[in-house]
Amino acid sequence: MCGIVGFTGMQEAAPILLDGLKKLEYRGYDSAGIAVMSGKTISVNKVRGRIANLCEKTKDGTSVPGPTGIGHTRWATHGAPTEENAHPHLSNDGRFAVVHNGIIENYLTLREELLRDGYQFQSETDTEVIVHLLELYYKGNVRDALLKTANRLRGSYALGVICSDEPGKIYAVREASPLILGVGIGENYFASDVTALVSHTRNVIYLDDGEFAELSGMSIRIFDCSGTEIRKKTTRILWDVQAAEKGGYEHFMLKEIMEQPGAVRAAIAPRIKNGKVIFEELGAFLPALPDIRKIIITACGSAYYAGCAGRYALEQLCGIPVEVELASELRYLNPLVDGHTLLIVISQSGETADTIAALKECKSRGAKTLAIVNVVGSTVAKLADCTVYTWAGPEIAVATTKGYTTQIAVLYLLAICFADHLNRLGKDEAAMLDTLQALPRRIQQAIDMNPAIPELAKKYHENHAFFFIGRNTDYAVALEGSLKMKEISYLHAEAYAAGELKHGTIALIDEHQPVIALCCNPFIMEKTLSNIVEVKSRGAEVLALTFRDNQKILPVADDLLFIPKVDALFSAVIEIVPLQLLAYYVAKENGCDIDKPKNLAKSVTVE
Ligand code: GLU
Repeated sequence: MCGIVGFTGMQEAAPILLDGLKKLEYRGYDSAGIAVMSGKTISVNKVRGRIANLCEKTKDGTSVPGPTGIGHTRWATHGAPTEENAHPHLSNDGRFAVVHNGIIENYLTLREELLRDGYQFQSETDTEVIVHLLELYYKGNVRDALLKTANRLRGSYALGVICSDEPGKIYAVREASPLILGVGIGENYFASDVTALVSHTRNVIYLDDGEFAELSGMSIRIFDCSGTEIRKKTTRILWDVQAAEKGGYEHFMLKEIMEQPGAVRAAIAPRIKNGKVIFEELGAFLPALPDIRKIIITACGSAYYAGCAGRYALEQLCGIPVEVELASELRYLNPLVDGHTLLIVISQSGETADTIAALKECKSRGAKTLAIVNVVGSTVAKLADCTVYTWAGPEIAVATTKGYTTQIAVLYLLAICFADHLNRLGKDEAAMLDTLQALPRRIQQAIDMNPAIPELAKKYHENHAFFFIGRNTDYAVALEGSLKMKEISYLHAEAYAAGELKHGTIALIDEHQPVIALCCNPFIMEKTLSNIVEVKSRGAEVLALTFRDNQKILPVADDLLFIPKVDALFSAVIEIVPLQLLAYYVAKENGCDIDKPKNLAKSVTVE
């Protein structure tokens, strides 16, 4: 989950490494460190906490001279977030320094073996075995030592390595964790994510699993897992550097909420042509669609909730049963899938470890696989039979907003596209496409219609728990709304299918548990209204989310959030917006670190 960077060239490495780590900080931020090589001397600086502490300790990098180095911002998996456990880790002879993103699953066995061989451990991390293995296998050739070491490791790793015998060189190794090389002029880089590279170079090379690279200022050599040199293509990054900056907003999250009309437009508009949904990416798959008997959507976190929200449109329009499964469960479910199953995997980063594992498992059983991802060239995108990008642009805030809404927008498009290929749409198609094309405008209206949210946040922020209730599509949105509240405000928030409340949970309802009631689906409105009356009768204050002219809600709600009226089958992308804003302003009232909530990381590359 962490971020790693490496630089080698003619410039001072430390300021470049620190700048890269700041860009990667969203991936992990409990401790950080850099190792810089000057001649044959490696200096390591590590701190607990944020990159700002590392900048302070190294005087913005000026106190650590040298043109070559590696850096790390950590999201601890093995060992507390202390200075000792922070990366880089050094070999006992001081020759190697290593940064690592991922988990070494067999580290205990390796650690015992290395302890028996007399190696001394300075940290509790799984990572440290790597640097001692390098020392063990080093006989004057770093590439050989890397190959032998990688052969012993099980799990996921992106590694950055320097060796004091090779001034000016950095090594990068990839196995099941993202790693990208940046190609400069007289200087080269690696990083976990392109956001750390784009201010220096737009030319990048995506490493694949099992590959490793040797970089100097003037050359990049890439090898496969047998040590054979290979050639790889350089890709040019086209997106705007500004897109990864805050642009005047106080937080990335607020900026990304406000970007949703544009992001959803970018996901939808290019795919509607001449009154049809056209996915060029799906050309090879669509002929197989009539043989599909079941669709499984799998994902984690908000992407899973996007699946829950998109499921209704897919199932209703295509007439194919749709299951939505958590990837961490599906991978161990011994899933009943075959060539008649379509597996749709959703992941913003395309690097979510559980999602990758579920994808591999179902693919090996013959399922057709389709990925919905944001990050181009990511692992999920490479593994799936076909990939549809969400085109949300870089999402920096850890709690997703535009990542989630663009995923749902793509699911809506897929639902219409599939239904059209199955000849199930007829004259409804044009009206549905009009609805989809209007969604970006409706999202903007949902933002503009709710100027009272900062005031409502002042009223509600001191409560310790919230219940979010809704039925059908409203329930799917309630799940994501409550997750947003938990993630960034640290308040307990629980989503319940409104009809399920009376089967136990209503025991918790009293005047201290406000209920946020989603009431945007006219088909089921009367039923939800009854549930609202039930919680009000037990003392709860009710903040209702509904469409503007809904008079029926007025007698039962204490406060209101609004959306414009939209066909409920496609309203989830609108409904979530006021709830994102509510979570944002409640978190702000409570002084929380909104873009980097505690214990979380953006891209969950560990199981
Ligand atoms: N497993 C390593 C650790 O706990 C690396 C974690 C990370 O990817 O940040 O130090």
